[in-house]
Amino acid sequence: MAFILFRLFVLALVLGSAAIAGQMIAGPKGAVAGSILASLIVYAWQVRSGRKIIDWLDDFKVENVPEVSGWWDDLAAKLFRYLRLHQRQQQALTNALVSFRTAAQALPDGVVTLDSEGHISWCNDTAQDHLGLRLGSDIGQPLINLVRNPNFSQYIRSRSWEQPLVMTAPRSRSKVLSVQLVSYGDQQMLVLSRDVTQVEKLERMRRDFIANVSHELKTPLTVLSGFLETFRDLPLSKEQQAEYLNLMYTQANRMQNLVEDLLALSALESSPSAGEGGELVDLSGMAQKTADEAQQLSGGKHDIHVQVETGLFAMGNTAEIFSAFSNIVTNAIRYTPERGKISIALRKTENEIGKSCAAFVVQDTGIGVSAEHIPRLTERFYRVDRSRSRESGGTGLGLAIVKHVVQRHDGELDIQSRPNAGSTFTILMPLAKPEATPKSAAAQITTAA
Ligand code: ADP
Repeated sequence: MAFILFRLFVLALVLGSAAIAGQMIAGPKGAVAGSILASLIVYAWQVRSGRKIIDWLDDFKVENVPEVSGWWDDLAAKLFRYLRLHQRQQQALTNALVSFRTAAQALPDGVVTLDSEGHISWCNDTAQDHLGLRLGSDIGQPLINLVRNPNFSQYIRSRSWEQPLVMTAPRSRSKVLSVQLVSYGDQQMLVLSRDVTQVEKLERMRRDFIANVSHELKTPLTVLSGFLETFRDLPLSKEQQAEYLNLMYTQANRMQNLVEDLLALSALESSPSAGEGGELVDLSGMAQKTADEAQQLSGGKHDIHVQVETGLFAMGNTAEIFSAFSNIVTNAIRYTPERGKISIALRKTENEIGKSCAAFVVQDTGIGVSAEHIPRLTERFYRVDRSRSRESGGTGLGLAIVKHVVQRHDGELDIQSRPNAGSTFTILMPLAKPEATPKSAAAQITTAA
């Protein structure tokens, strides 16, 4: 208040002095003229200062503070403080935004922020990749127009976003995304996207696996219970009884094989690598043993040729490697018609990176497989001809077991085949280090036909 009174006093003093000066120069008229002139000067000075402040507000920056005095200087000082405060708040907001974006950028999930109209205000790199966006050109665009997927559009419009939407990625049909919207702040929205391709694949495999196992068990069980019913309800002759018992035994055997293969597979999947810290496995003895079994299984119906290099050893699990060798030999017999040729060989070789390996090669002149089936043969329950596999006692799990055994021993499985020409299955097993190999095991080749 005192400050205002002081200013008014100064103004009165100026006007009074001008009036006195006018009075002294030209009497009463001079006093009036003096005070009008002084008022005009004070007014012009005020207008000029006001103009400077308005010009400053047009380009409101700290460095543009005008030089004014009196009331205007007070006003300029207040505006200056307000500007500094605003700048600090602005800086704090910018820092917060930058750290939010840096954190969102580092997320493994895609993040898109949308304004209340659903227009993109920002997105991270992962979201650009997932949803096919380009931050540079897509900012301000409605997301719904850029992600052209009817399910996604419906999901956004539905406004019931408690559950995520699972959809294929707009730019890559093999990628599956889980997308969820979350609203926040003043009707803004956050779109989160996650790549769930692998999870979906595993889920599909799990579903298929359960369906397959149930189906594989159901068929022999149905046959078995049918025969049991016949036994219970009908008077059967001794011959009929023997025949039915035989058929029942085959079905029970089939279920037993299936359960054993399933157990073997699950044991392989749940234990770590078998090569390191495993036992010394006599591959040559094992190849010879599987060849002997092949002769027995064939019962002389095939022309079997065996060539085994002795003294080849690997580190690993004997039972597992035996089951892998035995599986491909058994398949050769099962999928080769009578009088077909089968050759079983074990020899020393090198793999692609020059590592010493033993190659167990089983070649047949059987029914073969066309190229499109080959990559899928090691999938569980994948069979080219379901009925043929079942008739010959197959479970559809043999090559899946072989693949797992080979992988666990750092080996390789190669399949070459042509329909009606035959197949060659090769298992490459890394050889044990020479110092781990028995000294007496000198290499030589034994051949049998
Ligand atoms: P299965 O118990 O059905 O034989 P596998 O996993 O051992 O199951 O083999 C999968 C499929 O691969 C078989 O059903 C068969 O179609 C094909 N297959 C395997 N070995 C041979 C082979 N030597 N010749 C032709 N087809 C084969």
